[in-house]
Amino acid sequence: MPDQDGPEAASKAEPEAFELAGEVVAPGARKDIELRVERLPSGPWISIPAIVMHGRLSGPTLWVSAALHGDEINGVEIIRRLLTILRPGDLSGTIILVPVVNQLGFMAGERYLPDRRDPNRSFPGTPRGSLASRLANLFMREIVARCDYGIDLHCGSDDRINLPQIRADLTDPETARLAAAFCAPLTLDSQLRDGSLREAATGAGVRVLLFEGGEANRYNEEAVSIGVAGILRVIDALEMEPPSAPATSRTSSTAHSSRWVRASRAGLFRHQVELGDRVEQRAVLGHLSDIFGRQNLAVRASVAGTIIGMRLGPRVNQGDALFHIAQTPPPGPRYAHERD
Ligand SMILES: [Zn+2]
Repeated sequence: MPDQDGPEAASKAEPEAFELAGEVVAPGARKDIELRVERLPSGPWISIPAIVMHGRLSGPTLWVSAALHGDEINGVEIIRRLLTILRPGDLSGTIILVPVVNQLGFMAGERYLPDRRDPNRSFPGTPRGSLASRLANLFMREIVARCDYGIDLHCGSDDRINLPQIRADLTDPETARLAAAFCAPLTLDSQLRDGSLREAATGAGVRVLLFEGGEANRYNEEAVSIGVAGILRVIDALEMEPPSAPATSRTSSTAHSSRWVRASRAGLFRHQVELGDRVEQRAVLGHLSDIFGRQNLAVRASVAGTIIGMRLGPRVNQGDALFHIAQTPPPGPRYAHERD
């Protein structure tokens, strides 16, 4: 038994009820809440579903969100699995799970909103801006403003697949501690992008991890299982529940910069390396050919490092991104195809 008069007792007292969008969630309870964004032209509301698990004991507040890019559905499955595992009665603190931020994109299997705006370049948004700007602003007001920590789930875009990886500001020791607890195959110390949820939330004093894994419009089991286990380890590291997260023997490889390799001409592309492979500078990564059997151009690595993203489809235009290489130090640990 902990000393009831000590700091442990003070920090783990029963919390007040949690309030979100006018709804009240009692300690130890779960509530499914709809955050209304705007109406569809045909009348019904476009809303953001938020599932609040309010712990029986006090602690930090964490959000986990997916499908901000509507076609990035691996995170939707990650959150569905978390909902079957987490119990508000066991929690110290509050977890807000947002399985689909961009409902319109999700319904259409599209990354963006119908006006072609990128919701992850529309933060912090304004209440009277474009639909993307209003969506971002609502998310900031209702979710981010209530949280100490956030995890935003993404996948590769434009026919590319990503190695399961965490992108985070590793110059902040607490963010770096949580990224280490997540222990993705690769951790990229990444610059904040203008208008992103991560940038806006960081500016609001919230620590954010961005998880990338798999491809759009598909479930990739490896990315999903690594995502679920990593988030459970972060929840453990925040001391929000009794230790129960699956341990991992993996060592996360860290990189502080990355480079894209682009197609020098249009053509048909075949890759010959795999996600997680360590490559040396000038190594042949694949080939670009024409349809006549005359050309077969080698695509080479511009830097040494680890393949963290890769084009899947063969039809490419000049300038298309073919590979994303994280500049891991040699001899970079090879990504083990393990499952948590
Ligand atoms: Zn995304």
